[in-house]
Amino acid sequence: MCGIGRCKPIGLRVREALVDVMGLLYERGLVGVRGGNASALVVLPEGTRFVYVTPSGAVKPRLKPEDIAVIGVDGYVYEGRPSVEYRLHLEVYNSVEGVRAVVHSHNPATVLLSYKGLSLDTRVLGVEARYYLGECVSRVGAYEPGSVELAKATASALKKCPVAVLEGHGAVAVGYNADPVEALYEALDRLEALEDIALASLWGQKL
Ligand SMILES: [Zn+2]
Repeated sequence: MCGIGRCKPIGLRVREALVDVMGLLYERGLVGVRGGNASALVVLPEGTRFVYVTPSGAVKPRLKPEDIAVIGVDGYVYEGRPSVEYRLHLEVYNSVEGVRAVVHSHNPATVLLSYKGLSLDTRVLGVEARYYLGECVSRVGAYEPGSVELAKATASALKKCPVAVLEGHGAVAVGYNADPVEALYEALDRLEALEDIALASLWGQKL
């Protein structure tokens, strides 16, 4: 059975979802107009893996499906101009088992909380938010954006937890759903839950 939207080629569904996810991140205030990036892994029936990734330097809430870049897991560029953070995305797909989507944002409350050396107060999370956030949150030190060092440290952190806070920078979350479109929204849910708990933790300091 072919439901509405499900009959589109997987590449188009992923492109549309990446555009949507970046728009939602912007609306929620989790990225600036050119900030953040996202990708999804498409595995063809014969096993070839392609990474669909947001483009470098683009105005994220104005993206179109045709702006999305396509690269191999070895970094070969098939189409477009991939995000400067492409190394991080590839490192995660190549070293963390089962990941189908990676989303990077600049959550302001999360960054402020880590800057102040405060920890996330997970007690304030409801059951649903705890489900979205996952079992734990990793921390990654301050590395140059776009660097190999940041890519390796983040992939290492994401082997332990599905969300990592990047000190003084933002956060990265992954999705594991076998459908890369669903995996993108799974990662987005995690970043929202992280920001909600960071906000609650900051407010909790004042009470
Ligand atoms: Zn960033």
